[in-house]
Amino acid sequence: MEFRAFLLKYAEIGIKGRNRYLFEDALVEQIKYALKRCEGEFAVRKEQGRIYADVVSAYYDYDEVVENLKRVFGLSHICPMIQLEDEGFEKLGEEIVKYMDEAYEDKGLTFKVNARRARKNYPKSSMEINCDLGEILLEAFPEMQVDVHKPDVMLNVEIREHIYVYSIVIPGPGGMPVGTAGKAMLLLSGGIDSPVAGYMIAKRGVQIEAVYFHAPPYTSERAKQKVVDLAKAVSKYAGEIRLHIINFTDIQMYIYDKCPHDELTIIMRRYMMRIAEHLAKEGGCTGLITGESIGQVASQTMKSLLVTNEVCTLPVYRPLIAFDKLDIVDIAEKIDTYETSVLPYEDCCTIFVAKHPVTKPNLQIIKKHETHLDEKIDELLQKAYETQEIVTVSAV
Ligand code: ATP
Ligand code: MG
Repeated sequence: MEFRAFLLKYAEIGIKGRNRYLFEDALVEQIKYALKRCEGEFAVRKEQGRIYADVVSAYYDYDEVVENLKRVFGLSHICPMIQLEDEGFEKLGEEIVKYMDEAYEDKGLTFKVNARRARKNYPKSSMEINCDLGEILLEAFPEMQVDVHKPDVMLNVEIREHIYVYSIVIPGPGGMPVGTAGKAMLLLSGGIDSPVAGYMIAKRGVQIEAVYFHAPPYTSERAKQKVVDLAKAVSKYAGEIRLHIINFTDIQMYIYDKCPHDELTIIMRRYMMRIAEHLAKEGGCTGLITGESIGQVASQTMKSLLVTNEVCTLPVYRPLIAFDKLDIVDIAEKIDTYETSVLPYEDCCTIFVAKHPVTKPNLQIIKKHETHLDEKIDELLQKAYETQEIVTVSAV
C-alpha cells in the first residue's frame, strides 16, 4: 500500500495556551527541515490543530521519511494515512475494506473503528459510522473480531474536507520543537557525552550553538573533523548548528608554563567556560551546555564543578549530571553519535594532563594561581576570538 500523506500529532505543545501557534509554526519548520533531507517533494500544512505532510512527488521513500520524522522534536505520533474524497458511504466502505486487506496480511485480529466527524454535515453520526463500517469489515473478513477495549488495530476515520484513514501509529521522539525555547552554547568535545548533552537540551526546544577547543599541532585535523561530524549528527535533530572552533593551544601552553601542573585541567576548564560564555553572550545564547557528570573524571567531582562553575554568570545546563556512563552510551547509540565519538583521536584536554590532577581544588588557591596569567592572558583570549573559525553545520 502506498501512503501519500502523514498525520503528525504533537503532544506537549498542545498545552501552550495563547502561544500555541508559535509552537505549531516552529514544529512545521522543523518538519520541513527533516523532509528536505528526503528524496521526493512534500507539502506541510496546518489545519484545525493538526499538521499534515502530503507527498507531492510521484516517488518517495517511505522508510526514509519515517526515519527522518522520528527525529523531529515535538512530534508525539507519526501516522501514515490514506486520503479519500467523499464519494458516498458505500464507496467509503469499499475503500476501508481495501485498506484493511492491504495493511494487514494476517486477518486474525481484533479491531475498533474510531470515526471523528469534524464536518458536521456528513449524513451519518460518528457512532453510526463506527457501527456501519465495523459491520462491513466483519462481513468482508469473517476472521476479524471487534474489541472496543483493547483492539489490535484502531482504525481511525476522520471526516473532514477529505476523509483520512489511518491505523498505523509510529511513536515520535516527544519533546518540544527546536527554536521555541531560545538558544544555548554547547561545549562540544569529541567525546561521548557532549553530543548527548546537546541532543537532550535540543529536545526541550533549545536551539544549539557549539564551541570546540582544539590545540593544533597537538590535536589533528582529523580530531577537528570528528567534532564537525558529531555536530552534523546532532543537527539531524537540532537543526542547523553554528560551530565555533577555537584555537586553544597558546592559552593551554601559557597555563602550563605559569600554573602548577596538577591544577592545569581545572584552570583550563575555567578558561573554556569563560570563552564559551563570551561567545554565548555575543551570539544571543542564554545558557551553556556541557556533558559533565558527577564523579566521571577528576575535573567532574562536586568540588571541581564548583570551581569550574564559579567563572560563569549564565546558567550551565548539565543534562547528564546524574547519568552513569553506560546510560549515556545507550543514548549515544540511539542517536547515532557513538561510532564517531569512539574514534581514537587525541583531545586537547588529555595532552598536557597531569598524572594526578587535583580532585578537590580550592577555589581561593586556584584564583591565586590564575593571577600568574595576568600579564598575557587577555591578549591570548583576544587572539583566540579573532582567529576562531566558524562552521555552519547542517544535516541537509
Ligand atoms: P566528552 O565525553 O563529552 O568529551 P569528557 O569525558 O571528555 O566529555 P571532560 O574532558 O571532563 O569530559 O569534559 C567535560 C565537558 O567539557 C564535556 O562534556 C564538554 O562539554 C566540555 N569539553 C571538554 N573538552 C572540550 C573541548 N575540547 N571542546 C569543547 N568542549 C569541551
Ligand atoms: Mg565525559
